[in-house]
Amino acid sequence: KGPDPDLVAIAERMATVKHKILVLSGKGGVGKSTFSAQLSFALAAMDFQVGLLDIDICGPSIPKMLGLEGQEIHQSNLGWSPVYVESNLGVMSVGFMLENPDDPVVWRGPRKNSLIKQFLKDVYWSELDFLVVDAPPGTSDEHISIVQYLNATGIDGAIIVTTPQQVSLIDVRKEVSFCRKVGLQVLGVVENMSGLSNPLMDSKFLKITETGEEKDVTDWVREYVRERAPELLNVITQTEVFDSSGGGALKMGRGMGVTFLGKVPLDPKLCKAAEEGRSCFIGENCGVSAPALKKIIEKL
Ligand code: ADP
Repeated sequence: KGPDPDLVAIAERMATVKHKILVLSGKGGVGKSTFSAQLSFALAAMDFQVGLLDIDICGPSIPKMLGLEGQEIHQSNLGWSPVYVESNLGVMSVGFMLENPDDPVVWRGPRKNSLIKQFLKDVYWSELDFLVVDAPPGTSDEHISIVQYLNATGIDGAIIVTTPQQVSLIDVRKEVSFCRKVGLQVLGVVENMSGLSNPLMDSKFLKITETGEEKDVTDWVREYVRERAPELLNVITQTEVFDSSGGGALKMGRGMGVTFLGKVPLDPKLCKAAEEGRSCFIGENCGVSAPALKKIIEKL
């Protein structure tokens, strides 16, 4: 029996990709896609040739997060062409294949696996410095397949995204164990939604009147602060939105011998950038989340 032709084809495709990074999370909704998107924007801004592959098949949010909603994939004789945000940032997602973006993708394992295989085999990325892979949450059959397929030419490792909550951290342990089982290096853990950035500037303040109505007093509050204690406007508060009394990802990372890459606060401006498909590193300043993300990326 000769070598699996699919694996050979994948290895050929991946031979022009220098670095492959898998972004994982134990749960959905922790910011894995947001991190994958912003990591790709950041690498592209550093003039690297970047590919972002979204294989979160049941919840593909990457097209929206890169401002590519409604775009379609084109086929050339070299394979499927990614959709380009910029000349050095190409994106491939199952989201581009859905006729209606509101349609849920309800596929069983084998079909998901074959699409992942096809993505790795048939997408013409050309030369890439980095391929960032936004994986589905959890540790499923698909994950084993991805690692198997990509391993043909080596994977640099995985970044695990979590929130500070215990329930999410417990799942990080599972992700780390999974990586160890399949021989995938853990590049580190990112604690996302860790604290809330500057609520004074980002929040709306509502006063409940005696008759129970809400009155917007935001301008009054900001004016008050500006006059009496302007230095407060530059203070970053760390409101612990989630209970992180267990020590969060830092402690867990230490306990498991994995690198703690850093914390990204819950930042409405980052959320807005993601909604609008923008990089948080340019244009409107993303409060404290952009520098936090930058620090993490520099550590990689
Ligand atoms: P996942 O890929 O883990 O399912 P997403 O990246 O889709 O999670 O994030 C879920 C939602 O939370 C998105 O609307 C995203 O914009 C928002 N979000 C993620 N991280 C942050 C953050 N640090 N601050 C504010 N909003 C965030």
